[in-house]
Amino acid sequence: MLRILVIACFIILQPYVWAVEPDFAAERRALMVEISALAKETRSETGQGVISAQVMEAMGRVPRHIFVPPEVRHHAYRNRPLPIGYSQTISQPFLVAYMTELLQVNKDSKVLEVGAGSGYQAAILGELVKEVYTIEIIKPLAERASETLKSNGYINVQVQVGDGYYGWKKHAPFDAIIVTAAASHVPPPLIQQLKRGGRMLIPLGSSFMPQHLVLVEKDMQDRVRTRELLPVQFVPLTGGH
Ligand code: SAM
Repeated sequence: MLRILVIACFIILQPYVWAVEPDFAAERRALMVEISALAKETRSETGQGVISAQVMEAMGRVPRHIFVPPEVRHHAYRNRPLPIGYSQTISQPFLVAYMTELLQVNKDSKVLEVGAGSGYQAAILGELVKEVYTIEIIKPLAERASETLKSNGYINVQVQVGDGYYGWKKHAPFDAIIVTAAASHVPPPLIQQLKRGGRMLIPLGSSFMPQHLVLVEKDMQDRVRTRELLPVQFVPLTGGH
């Protein structure tokens, strides 16, 4: 009798058991350990031996696997970029943590991202700041990112379809700007939309040439200073500019 009951329960519950999504908690924890170790190892190149507890906690909370297509989900917690469709990628987690750290944002910050892609970087920022505005030039990616962010409670992140070269004037000025596609130069509209005392991170260079992550700082007198940080590889900033 008991055996029949167990078999019956198994048959009834089986579809629900299979429907439960894995949450990859152990893989996410292992990735956090890897990122912390990499920050220490690359200190001489990055000048940033430690990623702050706030940024690491945000990285540990955001489920990267929900931002990638199902066919690459099992790789979501590898420290590497992954394809997200339309020839675009979700950035390497270490780089996401490193760039987030360098933005020096806090819970009152308003941040602009150019290149929403999957929405993952925006979600990390959404955990840390007051408002995130992110622009994506490929409409289906923008729609998917917006849907993923909304359905996972990121109500402080707004996604817009458009050419991020021109920024998002309506919500400017921004405490920080992060560009996640490689440009040939720093877009003047983004410099204008950066607050005094603000920071911008942007990869400069082309797809076939070495690219460098550049930190742009605007001081309280509106003077702009740029500093090359480290070699990187990003997809190109496209658009009609
Ligand atoms: N931050 C993204 C994430 O977390 O998934 C990864 C961004 S991916 C490396 C770069 C993105 O920039 C692509 O989705 C690409 O379509 C977008 N992009 C390229 N040029 C753009 C432009 N002018 N304006 C807005 N987005 C742009």
